[in-house]
Amino acid sequence: MAVTIQWFPGHMAKAIRQFEENIGLVDIVFEVIDARIPYASQNPEVARITGEKPHLFILTKKDLADPRLTQRWLDSFKSKGQPAIAVDAKTKFNIGNVLSVISPLLSEKLAREEQKGMKKRPIRAISVGVPNVGKSTVLNRLVNRRAAQVGNRPGVTKGQQWLKAGKELELLDTPGILWPKFESQETANKLALTGAIKDSVFASDDIALFGLNHFRETNPGQLKERYRLSDSDFDLSDVDLLLVITEKIGMRDDYERASNRIIQDIRGNKLGRFTLDDPEKVNQNDETDH
Ligand code: GDP
Repeated sequence: MAVTIQWFPGHMAKAIRQFEENIGLVDIVFEVIDARIPYASQNPEVARITGEKPHLFILTKKDLADPRLTQRWLDSFKSKGQPAIAVDAKTKFNIGNVLSVISPLLSEKLAREEQKGMKKRPIRAISVGVPNVGKSTVLNRLVNRRAAQVGNRPGVTKGQQWLKAGKELELLDTPGILWPKFESQETANKLALTGAIKDSVFASDDIALFGLNHFRETNPGQLKERYRLSDSDFDLSDVDLLLVITEKIGMRDDYERASNRIIQDIRGNKLGRFTLDDPEKVNQNDETDH
């Protein structure tokens, strides 16, 4: 199947240019990714532009993701020496630990500066990520808005400001929005199902079918219970299963509405917490690519 979603190239170039302008101002990059799609929500340009600087993955929406897979993702990042932390930005869970994860990565650099006679200063960071992963929510949780503004500084683009996140961390106030990568239809489906791509640009029945298939494989019990399906319904083709569910939820033959309902059910964890990317499968793909 062809990848049907395109990102406007002008946006892409602008996002990259802004990130490249800002990288010189910061000590570390926070790449915000969705814990339900830790691979599909990454953007390879972040590592390229970040270069040798530390790069922390913040996995948001931990509360929505499958906890076993989140742990496996954290183990996988750790085994590659890649700093990562999983948070629930809505309730603030683990947000307080971001500083303790990044401090050791920058303590030498800051100590060297002090030895050279420079004033002690906070760590400076920028957060970047694809749309809707939780960049603004994380920023708001890290920052105490009332005492937030630090004021303009040389080098910071007009209109941009540093926000204080405690005494030891400052963040650029505008997170960098990067385009999602559409390296395959599967990646695009994952981004659409979790809401990183606007609903208007994908066919809802394709995404609902993709979601139903995922739950048919990983959590058939929940799927069955939610839509009161019988065992024999599980022998149906994807499309026929969608037709049966449409009827069961009382939408007759309005497949579009039924598809949207299914997508909302999945996003709202009515079929249980889920993670669409598996670290082992992603690593295998990486190895075959090289
Ligand atoms: P941005 O586009 O990356 O800045 O994303 P936002 O910060 O606007 O968040 C997008 C949506 O995800 C909002 O509805 C947030 O409330 C929600 N959200 C962000 N982080 C979390 C999280 O950790 N858990 C849950 N359940 N929702 C989150």
